[in-house]
Amino acid sequence: MREPPQDRLRDENERPIQGQRDFVLYWMVASRRTRHNFAMDRAVAWAVRLRRPLVVLEALRCDYPYASERIHRFILEGMADNARSLKSKPVLYHPYVETARGAGKGLLAALAKSACIIVTDRFPAFFLPRMLKTAAAKVDVRLESVDGSGLLPLSASPKAFARAHDFRRYLHRELPHHLAEFPKASALSGVDLPRLKHPPDAIRRRWPPAPPNLLKGTGLEKLPLDKTVPSVTLRGGMESAKTTLNEFLERGLPAYAEGHSHPDAEATSGLSPYLHFGHVGSHQIFSALLDRLDGSMERIGRSAENWWGLGPNAEAFFDQLVTWRELGFNFCALRDDADRYAGLPVWARDTLERHKKDRRPNHYDFPTLAGARTDDALWNAAQRELLATGRIHNYLRMLWGKRVIQWTREPEEAFRLLIRLNDTYALDGRDPNSYNGIGWVFGRYDRPWPERPIFGKVRYMTSASTRRKLHLSRWLARYSDT
Ligand SMILES: Cc1cc2nc3c(=O)[nH]c(=O)nc-3n(C[C@H](O)[C@H](O)[C@H](O)COP(=O)(O)OP(=O)(O)OC[C@H]3O[C@@H](n4cnc5c(N)ncnc54)[C@H](O)[C@@H]3O)c2cc1C
Repeated sequence: MREPPQDRLRDENERPIQGQRDFVLYWMVASRRTRHNFAMDRAVAWAVRLRRPLVVLEALRCDYPYASERIHRFILEGMADNARSLKSKPVLYHPYVETARGAGKGLLAALAKSACIIVTDRFPAFFLPRMLKTAAAKVDVRLESVDGSGLLPLSASPKAFARAHDFRRYLHRELPHHLAEFPKASALSGVDLPRLKHPPDAIRRRWPPAPPNLLKGTGLEKLPLDKTVPSVTLRGGMESAKTTLNEFLERGLPAYAEGHSHPDAEATSGLSPYLHFGHVGSHQIFSALLDRLDGSMERIGRSAENWWGLGPNAEAFFDQLVTWRELGFNFCALRDDADRYAGLPVWARDTLERHKKDRRPNHYDFPTLAGARTDDALWNAAQRELLATGRIHNYLRMLWGKRVIQWTREPEEAFRLLIRLNDTYALDGRDPNSYNGIGWVFGRYDRPWPERPIFGKVRYMTSASTRRKLHLSRWLARYSDT
């Protein structure tokens, strides 16, 4: 039985393992997939060791911050995929969807009473660290969390890195030691477990499994969700994630190094919503690239320019997927102010403070920004892309963030508004990289630049220069309002 590396496991409480109880519980909260998932591997290993059935609980409340039809549908589509994938397996999958605020309260504690051990995912942002802590204190059984966030285990970093360059150097030195163990493509293949037909009666009565039509998104309008943020056409779930990955390998990857900054090139992967909800994981993406490009572990780290040994396109892609993405996870795991203005570098806050009284060209409030009604046509187009698709192209997202600094009375307000806009409308929002991306807009990971009004020494971007630099006529035709 393959087990995740020890440095990805953490006991969240000191309660005993109750080996005589009825089942092992995997509480799936972040790696919402049944394949390539260290936590799933760990839960299966416990079930085999204790000779107990495995129950997978995937629950969806309706009172989490920013709960909307958009976010809910994406998660539900993932739950439908998980239900299908576990249907013929020796596992009881319990998809619970809250239909009234607070109705799900008590479900985990009730299941815990029959659990030998609870295995769960560790995710370093949004309300999840708080939820994990509360749950660990409440249950009377061992709660173990598994870190499946990225290629580098979160526990491996000695500090929260202040520059991407330093983190990249650290990765180059340390990552090869962590690439020996991958999660299994199929945690249950060749595994024989005793099977539980249904959850304990008391659970079934009070917290029944979501009916298949709800997992298909029917009846969503009856749930108490923010209806002003409607569903988008992008489908959630590990099957769509796999299709998106395959399409990227076929069409985007060969053009990635040259094209990823240009919206018209459509060379980026579009994987961030799937990564955020755990419908796909970095190890799975890494394996797929190795297969596609005939790579091998032996070639990794031989040269600094072609560190992954897979050529310039993969090099540029892994710089985003591993260096930049994991920088954000690293920061959130080690700092509790990553999503706060106070967590920005001192030099950046100082310089913005000195320019607080500078005259702003305009003031826009949340409804004006959300409705894409500013005087900047390029910004409005980026916001319209966000409203319509739940995503913004990376380069335009930087401009989208920078412009808001000029449109609020003070930078703290811009910071709050950006988080609210991003977390409300972006499918990949509420992620370590939401707070890191917005932090970057205000100087995190950057250096001081020549001083100018409003921004001080924080890097400045203009819509005019962005238009000049990028290929975006097709993109603009899609999202501008004229
Ligand atoms: C203001 C602002 C807000 C942002 N908010 C988010 C957010 O809420 N969620 C989010 O995942 N990313 C966020 N980013 C980072 C980046 O914009 C997105 O990750 C990227 O656009 C996703 O598109 P893709 O999957 O096609 O990326 P690709 O170019 O295909 O990259 C592959 C993966 O690498 C990671 N990645 C790419 N660029 C970055 C980056 N600059 N920083 C960190 N990781 C990156 C993502 O996981 C992405 O899916 C933000 C950036 C800015 C400037």
